[in-house]
Parts: sequence; structure tokens; C-alpha cells
Amino acid sequence: VTAAPTVAVLGGGQLGRMLALAGIPFGLRFRFLDPSPDAPARDVGTLLVGELGAPDALDDVARGAIAVTYEWEGVPAEAARALGPLVAPSWRALEAAQDRLVEKQLLASLGVPTARFVPVDDDAALHRAVDDLGFPCVVKTRRGGYDGKGQRVLREAGDVAGAFAAVGAVPAIVEEWIPFDRELSIIAARGRDGTVVCWPLVENDHRDGILRTSLAPALRTDAGVEAEAHAIVKRLLAKLDYVGVLTVELFDVGGRLLANELAPRVHNSGHWTIEGARTSQFENHVRAVVGWPLGPVDAIGHSAMVNCIGALPDPEVVLALDGVHLHRYGKELRPGRKVGHLTVVGADAGERDARLQALRALLPADRG
Ligand code: ATP
Ligand code: MG
Repeated sequence: VTAAPTVAVLGGGQLGRMLALAGIPFGLRFRFLDPSPDAPARDVGTLLVGELGAPDALDDVARGAIAVTYEWEGVPAEAARALGPLVAPSWRALEAAQDRLVEKQLLASLGVPTARFVPVDDDAALHRAVDDLGFPCVVKTRRGGYDGKGQRVLREAGDVAGAFAAVGAVPAIVEEWIPFDRELSIIAARGRDGTVVCWPLVENDHRDGILRTSLAPALRTDAGVEAEAHAIVKRLLAKLDYVGVLTVELFDVGGRLLANELAPRVHNSGHWTIEGARTSQFENHVRAVVGWPLGPVDAIGHSAMVNCIGALPDPEVVLALDGVHLHRYGKELRPGRKVGHLTVVGADAGERDARLQALRALLPADRG
């Protein structure tokens, strides 16, 4: 008996779950490593419970796999490196994405504009950085932040004292606050043969540092902005000799793009691609890491993705609407936690917006 080809995934969250949901039709099996026995991926593959930096656990999950990938960028880059060349995207991408200073320096080295920033290792340095950058600005820990955690916005002189302690007194950066017109993300995939595909630009709405809604394709985007986004992500893909899906979060300031951060993985702002694009980010990530050809990424109509934060809608109610798709991650409901999402697809932006409005009227309030 030949064992089914297995893809190993470091992390077993909703992103891993959706990777498996995309890869199972290819006849692949999935094996996950996650510290929690309740991780959302438990339903769609074999879940090994263990720490993502533990060498033994990593060897166990990777054993015999045809590809090893990750869905959580907190996996220690060194641990990924030790697993060898089967790991995609490469540990270099992890290393860049998990330290905001290294990430910003990488972007700068490629000529990609970002917000001005200053690294700070203590309270005195933070005060000097704020003097230099002015208000408002934002302190972000170099490592470990997500969904706006590990960040503090400084609006006036009174906010500075205690800010270093408030983010945990760990190495950080201070960044100028960007009065952006909107937030965008560009998601691209690169295959093992170097082929690159870019999904349409996505427009993202965050509240309290958490993504709430994505619209795709982004509204009113001129060709120059789209081309600039493609140029940015392609420079990164080439530099990192990247395999898999890469996301770049962008600020649009009057048609000029600044890179905010990278995610070396499938991304929340790409969930709409499951129903809204010819090939989803999850499917193309699987194809890329396994070494198969990538699928076309054109949008099918216009989509909106709405995150379910801390609360879920009643399927009986939302599934009665035309063009609405529900994804529940199997997570315990907690305030501020992403527990599912809804995607609304319409033939054009008008139909999508009408459907989105009908959906919103039925949704429970976010608890987050
Ligand atoms: P995630 O991992 O969920 O994307 P994160 O915790 O890594 O988030 P960022 O992406 O750096 O954090 O910030 C979260 C949000 O806060 C941004 O999407 C943006 O809305 C806002 N924000 C962050 N930095 C700035 C800035 N310099 N100027 C203006 N807004 C900012
Ligand atoms: Mg972000």
C-alpha cells in the first residue's frame, strides 16, 4: 500500500484548516503541528500536539512529508531552517516577517517605501524616537505582534511615559502614523519554477487593529497603483527566492503606496478568493509548495469578506441570502477572536454591495 502524499503544516489554525480544505481534493493528506489539541485543523487532518519550536515535534510532523509549510509566522526561523529545503516558503521569509525591524530593512533595501521608523531598545531611545518622528506615532514590538497586539499609538506628550513598559519593555520600533486614504493588500503566489501570479488588489478595513472587512477587487484603483503593488510584491518574491503565497499590506496615500508589513503565508485579506477567484490563495499555496503549476487568479465578479470576531451568525439566517458563504473555524467564542468569516459575491460591485448590506442587517454585533 502506498501512503497518500502528505503535506506537513506548522500551525493548525484556521489558515491551516483552509489549506487542507483546498488540498484534500488533490488527494493530499495533511499533518499539522499545533500547541493546542483544539486547533481548528483537527477536523481536516492529523493533528500532532506540540510546541512549534520543539525539534522533536518538528521532526515528527515533517517525517515523510512531500512538502512542509507553515500557517503561523511565529514558527522560529531557526527551527524551520533545521527542517531543510522541503520547507516553503523558506526560513528567510519567516526571519524577515517575524521581526519588524528586519522586515522594514528588507523593504528599504529593495527600494520599497515604508513609514519612517526608528528602532528602540529602551525607554530613553523611545523618547528620542518620538522627538524625531513627532505625533501621532506608534510603538510596535519587533516580535510577536498580531491583530494590533503589542502596539501603542502615541498621540501627545502625555502618552510617551510608560509606553515602553506598556508594550512589554522589549525591543520595538517607533513608526510615524500614516494618514492613509485606505489600506490595501496584494497577495501573490510563486511556484517552484518561478512563475508568479497576483490576485487583484484588495481593500481592507481595520478597526482596533483587527481586519473587519475586505473588498475585492479594490474599488477605484487605477492601473498605475495596481502595477506598483505588483512591482513591490515581485521584488520581494525574487529577493527571497520565494515559494508559496506572500502577502504585502499597503497604505494608499493619494495613490502612493507604502508597505506596512509582510505575511509569508496565506492571509485573512485573501479569504474571499475561495469563492471569489478562479483559484484560491489556499489552493495555489498548496500547488506551489508541492511543486505543481499554479492556477489562474482572476476575480469571479466582486467579493466582500466579513470577519466574524468573537461571535458567529446563525447559519439558518445568513445562508438564506443569495451569494453568501459561511466559514466557521471550529474555535471557542472569545471576545476579539477571529472565529469565522463570511464571503459575499456579486456579479458586479452594485450587486455585491446590496448583498453585503442585506447581510450586515442580520449579523450579531462583533464582540471585539
Ligand atoms: P496583523 O498581523 O493583524 O496584520 P499587526 O498586529 O501585525 O496586524 P499592523 O499591521 O502593523 O499590525 O497594524 C495593524 C493596523 O493598525 C494596520 O492595518 C493599520 O490599520 C494600523 N496601523 C499600523 N501602523 C500604522 C501606521 N504607521 N500608520 C497608520 N495606521 C497604522
Ligand atoms: Mg497587519
